[in-house]
Amino acid sequence: MQSVTLARHCLTALVAVALGTAATDVMAARVSRLTPPSELFASGEAEPVIARFLPGQRFDLQATVQPDAGLAITNFAFYVDGSAVTNPANADTVARTSIVTETGPAADCIDAATGKTTGASGCRLAGGLPGNTAVVSLRAFSQFRAGVHELKVVAKQSNGTLVTALGNFEVVGVDHGGQTAKNIIILLGDGMGAAHRTAGRIMAKGYAQGKAKGRLAMDTFPYGGMVMTASLNSIVTDSAPGMQNYVSGNKANNNQEGVFPDDTLDAFDNPRVEYLSEYLHMLQGKSLGVVTTADVFDATPAANAVHTSARGNGTGIVDQFLDDRDRTGLTVLMGGGRKWFLPNASNSVSPQPANGSQRRSANDYVLPDDVVNGWDAARGELDPERDLIGDFQAAGFAYAPDKTALDAAFVGRVPSKLLGLFAYSNMNVSYDKINARRGDSTVVDAFGFPDQPMLDEMTDKALQVLSKNPNGFVAMIEGASIDKQAHLMDSDRWVLEVLEFDRAVAVAKSFAERHPDTLVIVTADHECSGAAIIGASTATAAELEATPNAGKTVVGTYDAAGFPKYTIGDDGYPSTLQIDHKLLIGYGANADRWETWMPNAFPTKDTQQPFPPAESPADPTVRNEDVGYLVTGQVPGDQAVHTATDIPLSAFGRGASLFHGVFDNTDVFFMLGQAAVGGSH
Ligand SMILES: [Zn+2]
Repeated sequence: MQSVTLARHCLTALVAVALGTAATDVMAARVSRLTPPSELFASGEAEPVIARFLPGQRFDLQATVQPDAGLAITNFAFYVDGSAVTNPANADTVARTSIVTETGPAADCIDAATGKTTGASGCRLAGGLPGNTAVVSLRAFSQFRAGVHELKVVAKQSNGTLVTALGNFEVVGVDHGGQTAKNIIILLGDGMGAAHRTAGRIMAKGYAQGKAKGRLAMDTFPYGGMVMTASLNSIVTDSAPGMQNYVSGNKANNNQEGVFPDDTLDAFDNPRVEYLSEYLHMLQGKSLGVVTTADVFDATPAANAVHTSARGNGTGIVDQFLDDRDRTGLTVLMGGGRKWFLPNASNSVSPQPANGSQRRSANDYVLPDDVVNGWDAARGELDPERDLIGDFQAAGFAYAPDKTALDAAFVGRVPSKLLGLFAYSNMNVSYDKINARRGDSTVVDAFGFPDQPMLDEMTDKALQVLSKNPNGFVAMIEGASIDKQAHLMDSDRWVLEVLEFDRAVAVAKSFAERHPDTLVIVTADHECSGAAIIGASTATAAELEATPNAGKTVVGTYDAAGFPKYTIGDDGYPSTLQIDHKLLIGYGANADRWETWMPNAFPTKDTQQPFPPAESPADPTVRNEDVGYLVTGQVPGDQAVHTATDIPLSAFGRGASLFHGVFDNTDVFFMLGQAAVGGSH
């Protein structure tokens, strides 16, 4: 191990000696990053292979090269299995390359004392690199031949010496001859671990003498397994790589979607990896549908179509949804997030524009030439004043601002493209939407959006639109606030989110029964909060109400938990959550909270909202403060966090039998690819 590592670092010296151009400090020049990531580069070990691709799936090659002191990188080439990745007949190859160096004012971007880059705002390279560092790229490479391939970068210094490094990647072959899945529906319960599913089942179906009296729709799927969810840089993923890993076959760093990490500061120039949507649109002409209860710029929806290393760059993210629709096949986009689509003529941050817009130049995108040329991508523009809803409509999308308009858009016809934006940011959760439908619209009125659709209704509309494409589609449907409410440890709200999500699962399953060439998977990106079903209350609803600080004295464990009995209304949701002996949830990855075991009248503050209602408690460390019972947590901050625990995946329909056992989140991509391209038996 040690000698292998040493050998890699000395490769520069060996190359230099072989060329008879020994530099004075032969160990100084080096490649400090080689993309796609590999263990061969990082540790000298050939396995495990980190980066894997489907045949023809495109990705960028990139290296960060630190030349000898006083020298610059003047040229470079990538070699795969010993052959240079250039095609003299293809002038595009040159247009697809770039060498990014520090070009900002030296006083700002290079520290005079150390000679290292500062990473200051307006500079091009991350802090701490030698000032002459170069990031060299070749965009949109692909390889069809299955197997493990060796990647080599060779960079030429200004004195003619070479700097080189080795890595590897794998192309995973597809077995042809099976029955292919024309349509792929990915139902993503954000943050939904096993406990979240179980809680939903107990509440919705009830148990009798130890047996569930019914099954959630997701429980009825015949195949499934457990998914390992780590991201490229942590055992605990956030939602950006949590989603992209499923639909690109590759690990991303936390906060990053559709890209590999790099050493430049531009959040939109990272080395890209082609999404399932782009791959199947290019190969088969499939459409993409993205439906969420979150703001549509959120990590899970964006990590199906948008390439950025900063999941918070809302303006650029929503612009890219539209601008790159011809590459992704985007046909349906529904959820919250209208604040990114409304013009902000003054680019104002404060005061908040009255129309709710949060478009900003600071989080918009403009792509460099090599990305535009390599990927045939829209260049983008800093345009906070853009009327993005108008631009979607001009591109043929029917637009629905609320449920009434959504229904109206389907009277007598099915639109060919659909945009639905039902809130400024994240939509209200099912607990509050259902209360409104039952006559108490206090919360949805306070948010300003009294007429929001449920996820199952959005799913039904999305599938009607998408199924007009005879080539099929990829749909990602997200129950987003299972995660968001679990972060906030608002147990009643997230359990109802599971029920709303499962109703969308039922819609998708029904579609797949009517269209047997459809594959449906239900899974999560990660577990959130370390939720655990600890038992049930020994108290009645009246007793809980009278003693909100009862705390652990009312937690019935084991036999004392019995079987909580909820009454389910005609709308599919519990008639009330304030039942006697209700289900109780504990948390294993929690911040401090005040627990009353009672539903909270208002959802906890959502900082993404441009106009959050004053009634929302700031966070769980103050919610019910001095009324409830203080449960101290073991993580910093004021919210519960994601965990590294494996999560369940269930599969139904064409190709479902490919999903079994324990597998990595990136494995799911290759199963989906097999089902769509090669088919299953
Ligand atoms: Zn989360």
